[in-house]
Amino acid sequence: MVIYSHSKLSIFEQCKKKYKLKYIDKIPPEIEQTIEGYLGEKVHETLEWIYINRMQDILVSLDEAIEYYISSWNKDYSNEIKIVNIENPPELYFNKGVKFIIDYFTKHHPFLDNTIALEKKVYVTLDSEGKYVLQGYIDRLVHDKERNIFEVHDYKTGGSMKSQEELDKDRQLALYSIAIKQNHNNPEVRLIWHFLDFNEKRVSKRTDEELENLRKEIIELINKIESTIDFPANPTCLCKWCEFRGYCIEGMGFESNKYDYYS
Ligand code: SF4
Repeated sequence: MVIYSHSKLSIFEQCKKKYKLKYIDKIPPEIEQTIEGYLGEKVHETLEWIYINRMQDILVSLDEAIEYYISSWNKDYSNEIKIVNIENPPELYFNKGVKFIIDYFTKHHPFLDNTIALEKKVYVTLDSEGKYVLQGYIDRLVHDKERNIFEVHDYKTGGSMKSQEELDKDRQLALYSIAIKQNHNNPEVRLIWHFLDFNEKRVSKRTDEELENLRKEIIELINKIESTIDFPANPTCLCKWCEFRGYCIEGMGFESNKYDYYS
């Protein structure tokens, strides 16, 4: 049985050639990490650290949170980290992270919601035989015991924000909510995104019928992936960040500065 993830499905939909290089040929990527990915990792780590302490009844200060972020950034930073938009110095990304932490901390302090898990690994079983399984990680899981409501929180460090309509159709957190419903006797689940670059929070929900449709749609997509024999390239603006670009003539020729993408 092959275990899928939301990103694996998305890569297939985005570019079949990249999917083949990454998951079938298992080619070692040329780029280990982009600066955008590094920023996302360090901000996630810092927010996780704030909540790990909170779950142990320790309320860290904003200064301590920023110090944690700075020290984590400096400890792991290397010149191997790829800056695609070369006009941007690394400090620009570092400073963005500081701003994200300050804004999030100020807005959510003293972090009173009932966080029960951080970076929680979940398995989503899509069929009764367990043939179709996805795995993923929930940034933060909250449980309001009195009302038996779960919240799946996700931090976005990217420079674009989705509309409510897009979020109401978003697949990743909806899939995680299937796992929560499977494991906790079908409670209400709220999907919550924190768009840190905009200091905005967005909420969505799914009906059981919508989740059932999603389940069928994903099974269909997995069947399509497993029966695919042709993996053509699909050059887009995202090629600039593709870790397999050096293996791909189509993608190497794609130069667009139209989008400033970071995840
Ligand atoms: S460079 Fe672009 S076209 Fe080539 S594999 Fe990567 S995403 Fe696909």
